[in-house]
Amino acid sequence: MSKLVIVGTCAFDAIETPFGKTEKILGGAATYIGMAASKLNNVDPAIVSVVGEDFPDTYLSLLKDRDINIDGLEIVSGGKTFFWSGKYHNDMNTRDTLVTELNTLENFNPKVPASYTDAEIVMLGNLQPQVQLSVIEQMAKKPKLVILDTMNFWMDIALDELKETLKKVDVITINDEEARQLSGEYSLVTAAKVIHEMGPKYVVIKKGEHGALLFEGNNVFFAPALPLAEVFDPTGAGDTFAGGFAGYIAQAGDTSFETLKTALIYGSCLASFTVEKFGTERLESVTREEINKRLHQFKQLVQFDIHINN
Ligand code: AMP
Repeated sequence: MSKLVIVGTCAFDAIETPFGKTEKILGGAATYIGMAASKLNNVDPAIVSVVGEDFPDTYLSLLKDRDINIDGLEIVSGGKTFFWSGKYHNDMNTRDTLVTELNTLENFNPKVPASYTDAEIVMLGNLQPQVQLSVIEQMAKKPKLVILDTMNFWMDIALDELKETLKKVDVITINDEEARQLSGEYSLVTAAKVIHEMGPKYVVIKKGEHGALLFEGNNVFFAPALPLAEVFDPTGAGDTFAGGFAGYIAQAGDTSFETLKTALIYGSCLASFTVEKFGTERLESVTREEINKRLHQFKQLVQFDIHINN
């Protein structure tokens, strides 16, 4: 089994899309990452996070039942769980954040369980860059690969800390607008170069329904998103992508450009399930068979033969 340490939020989300609205439901970056990674074979994921006393036991069981280790999930007595609320625009590609209540996340001091400090892959999900850095520093030996995901929220309020953390990171996964914000460059190719100089050897830029790009020096790879008939709720798609991506790398056991290319496809494949229902609902139920079927669809989507005349 390949150990995968995941840090990120475990949250309550309230979501509004053109198709409906939810009350507080299970969400959070670490939740989606953990659930997605748990779908890969021979991967042993552990979540490092914090919640309040209001986090239901049923949510904890949901994680445990998927063999996600939660020894590093702190429950603060009397505390309130991180809460996020968002509303999607009609195109479903953009959203407004309505509420971000950090609650227990505000004073979070992450503790990686001793049995996971030797994990080879570390997935730093979206939360304070200082917390992400603390997780790297707790690893007993240098991991094979440290992957970081973040968002504009942290660039706005903790840019210097984010830049410090990035110096210790091998792969960054961010969306196109965030790549532009972080680099100050409009072209994604130039943005990737600028971000590369901040530390990460690999830069992954997520473009929602338009797929994802992987940059390493002059190497570029593109993974499409699967064209879907029904997109219900994109929340967690980026985190699910990160979970499938990190999970595949843990499963493969190597960190070459070729492996990361396949990881990009796994990430896109898993994310395509998340958007089909509200919250984690679809990801909870997806089977290995369904994943494999969709991987075949991905293959067909991008495979072509071309005869180039001189
Ligand atoms: P995504 O749609 O992949 O960008 O991720 C949405 C998830 O990120 C939701 O489940 C939220 O709980 C979580 N989230 C939203 N804002 C933040 C934030 N500032 N820090 C950490 N997690 C967040």
